[in-house]
Amino acid sequence: MKVVLASGNKGKLQELGALLAHSGLELVPQASLGIADAVEDGHTFVENALIKARHAAKLSGLPALADDSGLIIDALGGAPGLISAHYAGVHGDSNGNIAKVLREVEGIPASQRTARFYCCLVLLRHAEDPQPLIAEGEWPGVILDAPRGAQGFGYDPIFFDPAMNRGAAEMNAEEKNPISHRGRALSVLQSRLADWLKRPHPQA
Ligand code: IMP
Repeated sequence: MKVVLASGNKGKLQELGALLAHSGLELVPQASLGIADAVEDGHTFVENALIKARHAAKLSGLPALADDSGLIIDALGGAPGLISAHYAGVHGDSNGNIAKVLREVEGIPASQRTARFYCCLVLLRHAEDPQPLIAEGEWPGVILDAPRGAQGFGYDPIFFDPAMNRGAAEMNAEEKNPISHRGRALSVLQSRLADWLKRPHPQA
């Protein structure tokens, strides 16, 4: 099944492409169809994922998969959360976003720097699909004092996984993908995909 991927984020595209390589879904990045990013003005991750998927499905005429994700830091009241992509003011400015988080967690002991990455995936058969497939995933960890590692994207350099005893940016794709929030959400999605595809395609 050909599915338009409603994201322009290169890091996400790579991860989702690798994770879905053998899924039966053929991913077409929305940019390759000339589709620009949607305006993400929802109040929750799931709303934003729906907005993105609907936008891509409407403009492409194809089923659409969208991901909305972010970093949630307990000591910062859940920030950067929904605005993870532009926490420091400029969309996609990972260095600025990291610098802002590091300033805000300065002085907070490591034991209180608990955090998690969260991902919500939405798959729509068409723009008006009233029964989207929705899957979530979380990746628990702690925020480091300083960036570490050179792999991954976004906040990976300041995210540490105590269970793996490694920073996210110290992991290669084969290590990160199965345990990440996106990987976990995708495995939930995949476990429900066959049943969901068997259902009749309802119209609105
Ligand atoms: P959005 O889902 O496009 O609104 O943006 C999510 C933002 O969260 C990204 O731009 C990154 O800053 C951050 N993010 C999401 N997933 C990851 C990840 O796996 N590693 C590092 N940062 C991430």
